[in-house]
Amino acid sequence: MNSDVHLKEFAVVGNPVAHSRSPAIHHHFGQQTGIALHYRIIESPLDAFTSVVRRFFEEGGSGLNVTVPFKQQAWELAHNHLSQRALLAGAVNTLWMKDGELHGCNTDGIGLLADLRRLGNDPAGKRILLVGAGGAARGVIFPLLEAGASRLHIVNRSPRKAVDLAGQMAEQLPDFAHQLSGGGLHEASGNWDIVINATSSSLSGETPPLQGVQYAPEALAYDMVYAATPTPFMQAASAQGARIADGLGMLVAQAAASFAIWNGIQPDIEPVLPELRKQLLAS
Ligand code: NDP
Repeated sequence: MNSDVHLKEFAVVGNPVAHSRSPAIHHHFGQQTGIALHYRIIESPLDAFTSVVRRFFEEGGSGLNVTVPFKQQAWELAHNHLSQRALLAGAVNTLWMKDGELHGCNTDGIGLLADLRRLGNDPAGKRILLVGAGGAARGVIFPLLEAGASRLHIVNRSPRKAVDLAGQMAEQLPDFAHQLSGGGLHEASGNWDIVINATSSSLSGETPPLQGVQYAPEALAYDMVYAATPTPFMQAASAQGARIADGLGMLVAQAAASFAIWNGIQPDIEPVLPELRKQLLAS
């Protein structure tokens, strides 16, 4: 821990986590808001997540971000005090202590919403195709529905996972059940306002083979993966006339939401984004 008593201590814990951009983002937010903080990276052994979390808070840590592969374990640790978003996401990326109890939230969905709005694509009234049925997809379903999406169709390489996910969410959120559906990548037909790639396909240089997708005028194709150059999914969507964006804004916005939970101040993501984009292009 840092010896300066005036610094608030934060960290991101994961494995692997060495290349996390969170320290740079949070130090930027600290400077912007005048909050003196230190934010470090903790690579936890795979079997020691619980003790790493305990020690961090026993030593006076103020807030912890959690990344792969520990988000579900974090959810279990904080199960008595979860936000509704975390509860429905089944995963936690933000931990903090209050009255001696561990609390958890999932800010991925808030981050995506903030970025979609920044890009001029508020989900309210929009027909949304969500590609993928892993942790990232699960985490954004409730926020998108709560924000007013008129339809949310989930498709996945393993169709059963998408159908099950849509069914589970419909059960947990009966008010939104009629907006939800699920299927395979070959069942992506529709005229969509927003198509979100929540798969990791771009990391292996691929794009999900979606069938029947049409982009409405001004539609946005959003890849949660971020990269120095447009991902294969973004390239394919651009060729179909869609506007495109990658997930760098979501990354910064989910960090801003964590920062706001911990410090009670909402930082501005706009000044951070160009700096990060520059670093990404240089890396
Ligand atoms: P998971 O491992 O939980 O899920 C992976 C998903 O990708 C599954 O739906 C899987 O399908 C699908 N998939 C993997 N490879 C392919 C492929 N070649 N073609 C089609 N589908 C494929 O990962 P997460 O949900 O946690 O994360 C998904 C991505 O989102 C990651 O790349 C991550 O970096 C990114 N992300 C970005 C964030 C940001 O802030 N920008 C925040 C969170 C995540 P199947 O079920 O069939 O295996």
